[in-house]
Amino acid sequence: MDIKKQLQQAAADPVKLKEGVAGAHIVPLLMSYIHLTGDKKYLDEVRPYISGGWDYQQAIPLALQERIRADVVVAIERLAESGDAEHKELTLEELKAMVDVACGSDVPEKYLPIFYEETCFGGKDYRAVQWRKPVSSAETDKYPVVIAGAGFSGVVMGVRLKQAGIPFVIIEKNDAVGGTWYENTYPGIGVDTPCHFYSFSLMPNPDWPEYFSKGPQLNAYINRIVDEFGIRENIHFNQEIQTAEYNEERCRWQISAMDKAGKSLSYDAKIFISAVGILNRPSVPNFPGLDTFKGPKFHSARWDHSVDLKGKRVAMIGTGATGIQVGPAIVDEVSHLSIFQRSKHWVIRHPMYHEKVSEAVTWATKNIPYYMDWFRFQLFWAASDGFHPTLRMDPSWQDSAHSLNAENAKMREELIAYAKSELGDRTDLLEKVIPDYPPFGKRMLRDNNWYKMLSRPNVDLYAGDVDEIVEDGVIAGGKKYAADVIVLATGFKASRMLWPMDIKGRDGVSIRDRWGEDNPRAYLGITVPEFPNFFVLYGPNTNLAHGGSAFFHSECQVRYISSALREMVEQGIDELEVKSEPFENYNDKVDAEHKQLVWSHPGVTSWYKNKGGRVTMNSPWPLSEYRNFTANIDLGDYQQKSLVAS
Ligand code: NAP
Repeated sequence: MDIKKQLQQAAADPVKLKEGVAGAHIVPLLMSYIHLTGDKKYLDEVRPYISGGWDYQQAIPLALQERIRADVVVAIERLAESGDAEHKELTLEELKAMVDVACGSDVPEKYLPIFYEETCFGGKDYRAVQWRKPVSSAETDKYPVVIAGAGFSGVVMGVRLKQAGIPFVIIEKNDAVGGTWYENTYPGIGVDTPCHFYSFSLMPNPDWPEYFSKGPQLNAYINRIVDEFGIRENIHFNQEIQTAEYNEERCRWQISAMDKAGKSLSYDAKIFISAVGILNRPSVPNFPGLDTFKGPKFHSARWDHSVDLKGKRVAMIGTGATGIQVGPAIVDEVSHLSIFQRSKHWVIRHPMYHEKVSEAVTWATKNIPYYMDWFRFQLFWAASDGFHPTLRMDPSWQDSAHSLNAENAKMREELIAYAKSELGDRTDLLEKVIPDYPPFGKRMLRDNNWYKMLSRPNVDLYAGDVDEIVEDGVIAGGKKYAADVIVLATGFKASRMLWPMDIKGRDGVSIRDRWGEDNPRAYLGITVPEFPNFFVLYGPNTNLAHGGSAFFHSECQVRYISSALREMVEQGIDELEVKSEPFENYNDKVDAEHKQLVWSHPGVTSWYKNKGGRVTMNSPWPLSEYRNFTANIDLGDYQQKSLVAS
């Protein structure tokens, strides 16, 4: 929004202005003030009191806060009245000086471009890939795109294609957008990345009700993106892509889909983009006797809301990111909850995990110019690369079975101390829950009152394998746990990436021929030799496990693909195929990096690794590095063909 208008809106109601400023987070408020007025007098004064991006990481004395807040009110009233406020570009030095204080760290310069991009600073869309010369619709029409999947990656890709005027359709198997956020409706579903950062940079949302909002809000937000950018008409719902075959002579993809009524449909596209993600095919383990169970049983991603859990004995198998949300959400209504934990998970507390966003903070994000920008970047910093260096194995580290290095060992101790404080005298539980492997080896779980729930009288935790399932319960460790309902929070078939689509590239080679069942590899996680004009969003080695937001990574990939399309359209390139050398080099680098990182630790089993022990899911890179790798396409990495020329 225009700064003048925003200021007038802020000053329009003096009571709300005072209340909003009084309750806003002090650090983004101060940064907005400096930004608006150029008055830097508080910068050095607050510096010693800020140790990180979250509000709980600042301890600015209240008297100092009062002075700042009073100055903010006066400045807003003055600027609203005079009408002479305008967006002011900051020099890199100014930005760095402010960012360092706001984040309580010496933020390396490589993160400064991310500030501009994440915040669309000053209303500029830094991630948009602009045409470099006039391009007619006759030219863009030669590059129709089919996208598989209308989760948020597919939607963000669609937005960018719409902006570029490139024709596209999104084929979506469900009757709605949202992907995994649409399909997962289990009780307690929510995001464990701060929402003001876990969102599309072009459409920040000031209305998140919680810092870590729930599934329905995420789903509503994705729907709002679709409508705001007018791409709903491009989405073909209730159709599932079955095959995609590349036609070399025409340099086009032939795509077949089937609708819910069993009708076959076909699409002809120059470019095929998969945005199906990796968390969309539920994994239901083949437990002996599963079919004999007489009561309702369902996977967490296919929650059966017709089943009333009130007063029922529920068995929940699986204690990953899903299980930890389901358990506490249902424990009050069930009569008994038996939890089956095959391996142990580290659980971390976040002080704001259950906190609602106050009216004052929402008001500030809407009305105070730059507040949302600073708040978002602070969260980016707090929730992203900070941990990354601590996930590297120190070759000289002695206790390598339990930790990786001094920092990681310290974290281990803190996590154990936290578990002890939560579990109190339940030392029996402590033994069951503390992992042997180093923190972050598997996905770090945010404590959702999990430990407190475990110690309740109506909860059992069995640590070990399930033996079998019988008609009225689950047998584990030779003991029967009676159950009326079974919940399978057992994760997804992530490693069989892109399955069940049958994708055939050059010479009819299938993606399964190249990737096998569980060894997906791609250049930058996006392109694969022998599969020209094919791009993958949220592909191999792009999952974020140290922090960050999946939106951030998607936007990096979407920008890269957009820059590839720009080259194709502007230069009349009909075929773009990554060369094997950059592809192999990149994957060698990924593997070499992973060998030193926590996810390869021999004591860890996880969905991040394939059967051969290779980490196929996670990105080994800090966000800033992946951002730089993908900021623009290097055509030297690609073979190109133009039909006219050939
Ligand atoms: P998951 O992390 O793969 O966890 C599956 C759970 O089921 C694990 O405890 C696993 O045990 C267990 N399991 C699987 N097969 C089993 C078997 N045969 N016998 C006994 N136990 C078995 O799946 P998820 O919890 O659905 O989470 C998947 C991913 O979705 C997460 O890592 C995250 O990326 C995303 N997610 C995010 C959020 C969020 O943002 N809050 C919430 C939910 C999910 P093992 O550990 O021994 O394999």
